[in-house]
Amino acid sequence: MKIHEYQGKTLLAEAGVPVPRGIVAKTADEAAAAFTELGGPLAVVKSQIHAGGRGKGRFKEHPNQPGVVLVRSADEARENAARMLGSTLVTIQTGEEGKTVSTIFVEEGLDIANELYLGIVIDRETGGPVVIASTEGGMAIEEVAEETPEKIHNEPFDAGFGMAPYQARKIAYRLGLPAPAVKAASKFLPAVCRFFVNNDCSLAEINPLVVTGDGQLVALDAKVSFDDNAMFRHKPFEELRDLSEEDPAEVQADKAGLSYVNLDGNIGCLVNGAGLAMSTMDLIKLHGGEPANFLDVGGGANVDQVTEAFRIILSDSSVKAVLVNIFGGIMKCDTIVEALLSAYDNIGFSVPLVVRLEGTNVELARKMLEDSGKDIATATDLTDAAQKVVGTLST
Ligand code: ADP
Ligand code: MG
Repeated sequence: MKIHEYQGKTLLAEAGVPVPRGIVAKTADEAAAAFTELGGPLAVVKSQIHAGGRGKGRFKEHPNQPGVVLVRSADEARENAARMLGSTLVTIQTGEEGKTVSTIFVEEGLDIANELYLGIVIDRETGGPVVIASTEGGMAIEEVAEETPEKIHNEPFDAGFGMAPYQARKIAYRLGLPAPAVKAASKFLPAVCRFFVNNDCSLAEINPLVVTGDGQLVALDAKVSFDDNAMFRHKPFEELRDLSEEDPAEVQADKAGLSYVNLDGNIGCLVNGAGLAMSTMDLIKLHGGEPANFLDVGGGANVDQVTEAFRIILSDSSVKAVLVNIFGGIMKCDTIVEALLSAYDNIGFSVPLVVRLEGTNVELARKMLEDSGKDIATATDLTDAAQKVVGTLST
């Protein structure tokens, strides 16, 4: 689960990580009032979306308007916020369609001496968290990783013990911090590491981490994601969720207890079991098709869940054919067919449908399909199924 910058900063501040003072605004007038309240000669008006690259990003409706902008008056704050709110921000991370801005964060403008990079992720090689640090912070970290990877340092740490003092010193040295900032780093770095572990983060990225003119360290940006599998341990985080940032079909699937991921192709897949779903997508690709989604109805889905699954697949206008691939273990094949037939009647299939069933109650399920008299193609095995569904698109 991703959260917004302003939410991440609130949590970081509670964990003892210095962040700039800032105020959330939902309207242009609120943004102007926030400028006045912050009282500075300088503030930063920041679009809140679940993606980075906002500083270099531009709005579809206002091609000259960046997603993050320095302002020097309440009026300037108001004008910038007015252009941002309700508009679509396109950044290197949003894709062409961009994201609509509905919240603004107005922050005090800091005196920046140096912009550094700090990130924490889970490293699969060491099986634990790793700090990633670089002197080349700011808005072009993707290029640094690509062109000068030697400028990026990795420091794995023990999740239970946290970051050891010598590790914090090592990172401070690698970042070339001035003396007062080294002292600040000995608190800052372990605090971010503790924050990451205690909150079951999958990502905590501070880019830029800035050294201010007076040698302090401040988190100027915050990109935080939590591990969905640990959300049961952090019930209050549910409130931080912004459903408008998530794919509506994925949200609907999540509610129905289905595992669904929207993809770019045009063949909708309904499968039980993640492994079978992966191989189904592989086979579709092998035979020249492109899957429109990954959908795992799970081992023990009921008729309602399967009907919901069909509803989600069919509501995607890019779906031009549907492949149902079920191995009936715990799941019974006739349950799937029952749901399929009810979906056929209730939702209506306007696209070709290919069904491959195997396992528990398969004979009964096949008979139900036949007796229904509906225009549903059946397949004998996986290859046959993939070929048939891809074939429906080429004719
Ligand atoms: P993004 O990573 O999405 O582009 P950031 O929050 O990193 O957004 O902001 C982009 C740039 O704007 C930063 O690299 C920094 O130079 C500047 N900036 C952001 N917040 C502030 C601030 N509070 N004071 C001064 N400059 C800022
Ligand atoms: Mg940033």
